[in-house]
Amino acid sequence: MYTVSHYINGRVVTGHRALSPIFNPATGEQIGQAENATADLVAEAITAAKDAFAVWSQVSLGRRTAILFKFRELLAAHTDELAAIVTREQGKVLADAAGEVGRGLDVVEYVCGIPELLKGEFSMQASTGLDIYSFREPIGVCAGVTPFNFPVMCPMWMVPVAIACGNTFVLKPAKADPSASLLIAKLFSEAGLPDGVLNVVQGDRHAVKVLETHPDVRSLSFVGSTAVGKELFEIGTAHGKRVQALSGAKNHGVVLADADLEFAAANAVAAAFGAAGERCMALPVIAVQQAVADQFLDLVVEKAKAIKVADGSAPGADMGAIITAAERDRIEQIVTEAERDGALVVLDGRGFRPSGLESGFFTGPTILDNVRLDQRAYTEEIFGPVLVVIRVPDLQAAIDLIRGNPYGNGAAIFTASGAAAREFARAIPVGMIGVNVPIPVPVAYHSFGGWRDSFFGETHIYGPEGVAFFTEAKVVTQRWPKARGQQQPTFHFAGASSAAA
Ligand code: NAD
Repeated sequence: MYTVSHYINGRVVTGHRALSPIFNPATGEQIGQAENATADLVAEAITAAKDAFAVWSQVSLGRRTAILFKFRELLAAHTDELAAIVTREQGKVLADAAGEVGRGLDVVEYVCGIPELLKGEFSMQASTGLDIYSFREPIGVCAGVTPFNFPVMCPMWMVPVAIACGNTFVLKPAKADPSASLLIAKLFSEAGLPDGVLNVVQGDRHAVKVLETHPDVRSLSFVGSTAVGKELFEIGTAHGKRVQALSGAKNHGVVLADADLEFAAANAVAAAFGAAGERCMALPVIAVQQAVADQFLDLVVEKAKAIKVADGSAPGADMGAIITAAERDRIEQIVTEAERDGALVVLDGRGFRPSGLESGFFTGPTILDNVRLDQRAYTEEIFGPVLVVIRVPDLQAAIDLIRGNPYGNGAAIFTASGAAAREFARAIPVGMIGVNVPIPVPVAYHSFGGWRDSFFGETHIYGPEGVAFFTEAKVVTQRWPKARGQQQPTFHFAGASSAAA
C-alpha cells in the first residue's frame, strides 16, 4: 500500500482531511490511498503559485522554451513508466495508456513553439507619428481539475499550455488514479521548472471548492462530467474567473447505407469498446441506416465477441477493467433496466469476469438494439462498454437524432458520399466531427472541445484557443514626439523615389 500526497513549491507535502482508496481495477485489490487535501493545503498551493508567478512570468521565452524541450524529452523517456502507472490505477490496456502519454506529448511539442505562438502584432504609423502594438500576457495562477479516465492526457491538455504562457498552476487530479500527476510534476522540476510553478493537490470536491472560490485563482480548466462541469462553471464565473469546462458526452456515429460496412463496423467496435468505453470521445451510439442495419449489427456483434477482455497489463488484452466496482454495477444496471423496458441485448457482457480475476471490476462488451429514446441507456452517458444501436431511415433522421440530444462533444459519419458528409458536418451542433474517422480528437495545433452540455465556457482547450485562454491581450498605442524645438526628421521609404517620398 502506498500513499499519494501533494506537490507544493517543489516538494512532496503530506496532510489530509480524509483518505481515498486507490484500487487496481483488474484485481479489485486496494493498492494505495490518496490524501485528500485540507482547505489549508489547497490555499498553501495557491500561495506558492502566486509567489512563483512573480518570477516565472518574467522568465524569458528562451528559458521557458528550453525547460519545455527538456520536459518533452523526460516525458517521452518515461512513457512506459507512466503507462504502467495508468494501467495499474485506471485499468486501461498498456497500449492505450502509452497512447495517452503520446497525446500529452503532442501538446508539449506544440507549446515548445511558444515564442511563435505569443508573437504580437505591430501597426507602424497607424496615425502620423503613432504606432500600435499588441501582445498577450500571462494571467496569473491557473487551476485545473481532471477526470479519472485520462490521468496523463487531461492534465497535459492544460498544464504545459498555461506554464508556457508564463502562468503558474495548481492541478487537482482525480482521486482514483492520482500517481501519474506526481510523476509529471517531478519531471517538470527535473526539467528545470522553478519551484511553485506547478503544484499538485490531491483531493475531492472540497479541494475543488477552494479553487473555485479563491480570489488568487484567475482561471479554472475542468475536464469531467456535465453536472460537475456546469456547477464549476457557475461558481467559478461568479467568482470572477475565466472557466473552460469540458464535460460529459454521448457521441453518435452514423452509418449510411453506402458506407464500407466492414470498415465502419471495425471502427465502431474500436470506438465503443476501446478503453472499456471510458472515453469522452467514445461512440456509445450508432445510428445505422435501416437498409443495412441487420448486416451492420451482425458484423459489430462478431467483432465485439472477438475482444479480449483482460488485465490491462496482460499481453494481447484489448479491453481492461472499469474504474470501480460501483461504476461497473451502475453500467450493468443500465443494461438491465433497458432490457426490462424492451431493449434487445444482442451481446451481453454483464457478469463477465476473466478467469483468475473474479474480484476485478470487469464487465464485457454489450450491444443493445431496439432501445427507446427515453430510456436511460440512450439519455444517460453510460461511460462503459455498452453500444446502443439505433435504426434510422436516412441521413436527415440521424441529424435530427443528434440535434435532439443535449450533448455535443463529438460525432462521426461513415459514408462514401462527400455530399452527405458535408451536410452532416454543417448540420450538427457538435464540436468535433469525424468523417470515416471514429474518434476525431484534434491534434495539438487545433483546439479540442464540445458544444452544448459537453462544454461550458468560451474558449476550448489546447491549440490556439488554449493559448488565448491562458493569456490576456494588451494593446499599446505609442507616439514619441521630438522634444520641443527639435525638427521632426524627414525620410522616405526605401525603394521609393525621393520625389514620391
Ligand atoms: P467527475 O465529474 O466525477 O470528476 C472530474 C473531477 O471533478 C475530478 O477531479 C473530481 O474529483 C472532481 N469532482 C467530482 N465531483 C465534484 C464536485 N461535486 N465538485 C467539484 N469537483 C468535483 O468525472 P469523472 O468520473 O472523473 O470522469 C468521467 C467524466 O469525464 C465523463 O463524464 C466524461 O465524459 C468526462 N470527460 C470529458 C472529457 C471532455 O473532453 N469533454 C474528457 C474526459 C472525460
